[in-house]
Amino acid sequence: MPVYEYEATEEGCAACRNGFEVIRSMSDPPVETCPICKGPVKRKVSAAFVRGKPLDPMAPSNLEAKGFARYEKDKQGLYRKTGGLGPDTIKK
Ligand SMILES: [Zn+2]
Repeated sequence: MPVYEYEATEEGCAACRNGFEVIRSMSDPPVETCPICKGPVKRKVSAAFVRGKPLDPMAPSNLEAKGFARYEKDKQGLYRKTGGLGPDTIKK
């Protein structure tokens, strides 16, 4: 499950003033208040994300955003979609 970092947007308490980490599932609602002082918090953009390597331009999500699809040929000679838009399989 992803770990999200939050920090106080106002004065906050000892726990949230310098930021805290919460493990959330994708389906959980966003954290808006500190679990300890109930003060407002906002999500921090993690440093690892900012300094991470550039996004893979061939990543399925990027292809999809540009309207491309990506296919990989399987052993039967069938092209199976691995990302993007279009039919799931293409037969030659
Ligand atoms: Zn707090």
